[in-house]
Amino acid sequence: MRLSTQRPAGHPARAGALRGAHHWRHAFVRPSRHSPPADVAVPPVTITTRTGIRIHGIQTGVLAVKRAHATLRRPAALRLLAIVLDPTWTPLLPILTWVIEHPEGLVVIDTGERAAASDIDSYMAADPANRWFFKRNLPMYVTPAEELATQMRGLGLAPEAVRTVVLTHLHGDHTGGMGFFPYAEFLVARAEYEGQLRRPLGAVRSLWPPCFTPRLIDYDGPALGPFPAIHPLSRAGDLLILPTPGHSYGHQSVLLRDEERCYLFAGDLAFSEDQLRTQGLQGIAHDLDQARATLERTWRFARQTPTVFLPSHDPHALQRLREGE
Ligand SMILES: [Zn+2]
Repeated sequence: MRLSTQRPAGHPARAGALRGAHHWRHAFVRPSRHSPPADVAVPPVTITTRTGIRIHGIQTGVLAVKRAHATLRRPAALRLLAIVLDPTWTPLLPILTWVIEHPEGLVVIDTGERAAASDIDSYMAADPANRWFFKRNLPMYVTPAEELATQMRGLGLAPEAVRTVVLTHLHGDHTGGMGFFPYAEFLVARAEYEGQLRRPLGAVRSLWPPCFTPRLIDYDGPALGPFPAIHPLSRAGDLLILPTPGHSYGHQSVLLRDEERCYLFAGDLAFSEDQLRTQGLQGIAHDLDQARATLERTWRFARQTPTVFLPSHDPHALQRLREGE
């Protein structure tokens, strides 16, 4: 990560950027109008680290969020209402997933969305609350060719061979592709799983496949820099899970350590590197104090250690992976 205080270039203008409803009533009582993306699928980005590990960055379609979702508006207590009432949208953002070809096995981080998510009415028919929220506040566009399993096969990787899937959290756009991995163990933070069972917030339980019986992570490993504890993922010690709560009940991130730098697969810890650098809060945070502490720890870590910051919805993440910054 470059430690410049300059703001990075803004999001590239994308064909098909959403046109927001022009009045809050539109956002509240009926779906905002927006145009589906005209872009063709973004090809995966593959790099090989100094230690010979291959990382694939795979975009499984795009989504858009309200601006009040990406950036916290005050008063913070009304942040969910602010999202629903906001008539303005971000540009279309990627839904990113990551596949690591590690000597100890294939590891997938988040599973993206399926093409069926492009039609929320039928996709979430069994879950009226989520259907309402996603349709009005989180439209997604995914083609069959963009699904994670299809793109993995195109890279010569068999989803059936995956034994480990780490979920940064259980929001629908990170779990839609879980069914592609029938033989994998899913690793989820205990706080995330138990919180979403108690009171679902962004998790679409009606879409969880039968193979989803996750192993719950409690972070029993040692501290790592500003992080109080980690969960080791590889025996070699180069791959581990970090607790990064705040965005959701028990959000977590994955860290791959190379000889010269770290790759931080950061889920929805921040929408962009700029948001991390400026310690900017999102409107969708479950716990703002935790979100603030996570941003501060992550930024402190990134300043101490050369880190490629790879959140799930950053239009510049694939480019940073390619360039190693
Ligand atoms: Zn999320």
